[in-house]
Amino acid sequence: MNDRLKQRVLQAAEEALSRQQYVSPIDIFIGMHLLQPVHVEDWRKGKVPYLEQVIQGNLNKITFSMKCFHAWTKEKGLKPSPTVYLARTSGPKRELRFSKSGDLKIEQFYRTHFISSTLSEIKQKKLQEKLDKPLELVVFRTIQNSQCSQCKKELHKGSFLFMEAGQPLCLCCANLNDLEYLPRGNAQLTRLAKKESSKSIVVVEFSRSCKRYERQGILVEKEALKKAELEISELD
Ligand SMILES: [Zn+2]
Repeated sequence: MNDRLKQRVLQAAEEALSRQQYVSPIDIFIGMHLLQPVHVEDWRKGKVPYLEQVIQGNLNKITFSMKCFHAWTKEKGLKPSPTVYLARTSGPKRELRFSKSGDLKIEQFYRTHFISSTLSEIKQKKLQEKLDKPLELVVFRTIQNSQCSQCKKELHKGSFLFMEAGQPLCLCCANLNDLEYLPRGNAQLTRLAKKESSKSIVVVEFSRSCKRYERQGILVEKEALKKAELEISELD
C-alpha cells in the first residue's frame, strides 16, 4: 500500500513541477485527489479551521505522503521558499493554519514552495516574489442594486460591496469602513497611499462590454491617504 501511495505522491509532484516550475504540499494533495480546490478556497477564506481537516485520508497517510514528498524535493535539489499564507478575510491579518497539531515544524513545511533549480537565478527570484505576494482582497463596485446580507442595507448601483463566503456585505459589516476610496489615475498618489496604508484593497467593477472585471481604484486608510497627499504637495 505504501509503495502505491509513494508512487502517487511522486507523480503528483513531477506533474506540478513541470507545469509551474515549483511545487507545494497543497499541489501534492490536489494532484493526488485528496484535496478539492474548492475546499482550499474555503480554507483561504477562513471557513475551515485548518487545512488537514479537508484533506481526505487519515493523519498517517498525510504524514507518509509528506515524508515521500520531502525526500523527493531533496533528491531533485529543489530550492525551498517559505511563503506566508494569509486568510482572505476582511478582518485583521491572520496566518492560515494547516495542521491539526499546529506544530511549528509541520506548519513551516506546509508553507514552503519548492522551486525548480533549473530556473535561472533571476527567474527563481521572480517566482519567489510572486509566491510571497499575499493574495489581494477585492471590493466590488456594483453595477446593479444589491443588498447587504447582514444589515440588509440597500446597496445602490455604484456602491461598494465585499463578498464573504459568497454573500455580499456592505463596507460597514465587512469592517472596512475606515477606508477611503482613491480612484485610479494618479499613479504616484496611489503608490504612496498604498505604502502608507497597512491595508489596501483593490476596487473592481464588471465591464459589460469587455465581459471582465476592471480595476477602478483602491481603498486605503484615510490617514494614509492624507499623508500621501501631504507628501506629494511637499514635493511640488
Ligand atoms: Zn451591512
